[in-house]
Amino acid sequence: MSALIEEELAPDETIEQFDVVIVGAGISGIGSAYHLKSQSPERSYVLLEAMDTFGGTWHTHRYPGIRSDSDLYTFGYRFKPWTSAPIATAAEIQKYLSDVIDENNFGPHFRYGHHIDAASWSTTDRRWTVTATRKDSGDEVKIYANFLWMCQGYYRHAEGYTPEWPGMDEYEGEIVHPQAWPQDLDYRDKEVIVIGSGATSATLVPAIADEVAHVTVLQRSPTYYFTGENRNLLADHLRELEVPEEWVHDIVRRENLFNLRALTQLSTEEPQFTKDALIDLVRAALPTGFDVDKHFTPSYMPWRQRIAFLPDGDLFKAISSGQASIVTDEIETFTSEGVRLKSGEELTADIIVTATGFHLSVLGDISFSIDGEPLDFASTVTYRGMMFTGVPNLVWVFGYFRASWTLRVDIVSDFVCRLLRHMDELGVASVTPRLRAHERDEVMLDWIDTEYFNPNYLLRSLHLMPKRLDDPAWRHTQDYWAERDELPLVDLDDGCLIYE
Ligand SMILES: Cc1cc2nc3c(=O)[nH]c(=O)nc-3n(C[C@H](O)[C@H](O)[C@H](O)COP(=O)(O)OP(=O)(O)OC[C@H]3O[C@@H](n4cnc5c(N)ncnc54)[C@H](O)[C@@H]3O)c2cc1C
Repeated sequence: MSALIEEELAPDETIEQFDVVIVGAGISGIGSAYHLKSQSPERSYVLLEAMDTFGGTWHTHRYPGIRSDSDLYTFGYRFKPWTSAPIATAAEIQKYLSDVIDENNFGPHFRYGHHIDAASWSTTDRRWTVTATRKDSGDEVKIYANFLWMCQGYYRHAEGYTPEWPGMDEYEGEIVHPQAWPQDLDYRDKEVIVIGSGATSATLVPAIADEVAHVTVLQRSPTYYFTGENRNLLADHLRELEVPEEWVHDIVRRENLFNLRALTQLSTEEPQFTKDALIDLVRAALPTGFDVDKHFTPSYMPWRQRIAFLPDGDLFKAISSGQASIVTDEIETFTSEGVRLKSGEELTADIIVTATGFHLSVLGDISFSIDGEPLDFASTVTYRGMMFTGVPNLVWVFGYFRASWTLRVDIVSDFVCRLLRHMDELGVASVTPRLRAHERDEVMLDWIDTEYFNPNYLLRSLHLMPKRLDDPAWRHTQDYWAERDELPLVDLDDGCLIYE
């Protein structure tokens, strides 16, 4: 498996060395391990994960109703058929991931409870030294990695983002962030306010509506929703015809991608039409006379932020039943009993849930350095949303915002395995992206065009993210369809990648 290196160490100290260290056992890390194992079986690797188990997002989030908002035919991997309803609970996703781990005998390669604190590159040795803390003993562990495959996601798992509002200290009820949902929280027959109306709120509210006294969604501004049955008719029919599950997965995945592409194109080419169509769906699902203009008509055009999918319109059912309601206003202050809004209205609650999002985490809050110099990713330019100028032998898996994240796990993995093979052919030990001479004076732009996609967690932390240029080689295009065709053909010797 690994080589043990014994240079410059105390006599009883050895450091393991791996060809590849994968960081994170979420859906990205597990998928990357699969591709590495199947496309490059000769390479030694280890996966390090801070938590006690796999799953990442699907392990951390335990609020009632937690589920995907993408369909699992595309959020699942291309190599592992999804066989249940398209929108899945966290438990179903965990089972799917657990099966991938078992079927591929990943156990010996995955090390849980290893929080990576630092990673330093040595140009002399052409390798990374990864420093982790073991959760069980608190001991520091060092591992050498020829190549770092970063699958640590994009947000801080330890704590969610809660804005500071005046008077929060005076509130006598309980404030809960969905990312740290207390498993013993008793919300039965309680008055609950959920601040925010994104996917988390839309999942949580219908899940608790029948048990609470009442739940109020308090939003600053409206969100787009899309409703439909949580089933796929084509999949059902193919199964009736006893088509093998591998085919069902592939065909339904194609169908869903086709539909998603059509929706994306429609949103771009006919934004007002798409907006009207989405809002008409909402209007049809709510009681006559409901103020859809105020509560469900966003000021932005569709797809600038992710559209939350509501299986079977469950949020609208909760609102129609009277168990849930929605208020569109801004918080002026917390009070001892709830919140006072800028309109002067007061809402009271026993529990306030802050479904207000994440803290973006750039590369797992790991302290990176190159030859002893601290590395600030904000001063690098991204190579195709995967690598960074001046940073050798490191790839980051950052998925799609609008299409399922995991679609990119598969195609980035193909790229990395091709790149590693290319390095073998060249007989080199390192690969580093570098702007070509004619690109060095180009204007560096933010990671993403915020006109085009602008969720708050990204806007808050954009200054921490790597930069892009207005060129497909130097940005994350966020375009699955283009990348699917282009990445396998990218010329690895076009001067963007320096081999040594
Ligand atoms: C509630 C919720 C629902 C979502 N639903 C969807 C959806 O339906 N469709 C979609 O496309 N996207 C969805 N997303 C986005 C989602 O996070 C990603 O799609 C996907 O799960 C990310 O997987 P990942 O493996 O890249 O990262 P994560 O799931 O974040 O996993 C990263 C792992 O890396 C580990 N790690 C991080 N830093 C370190 C470190 N320093 N040392 C060691 N280990 C580290 C973490 O502990 C974690 O286990 C959702 C997000 C949330 C929060």
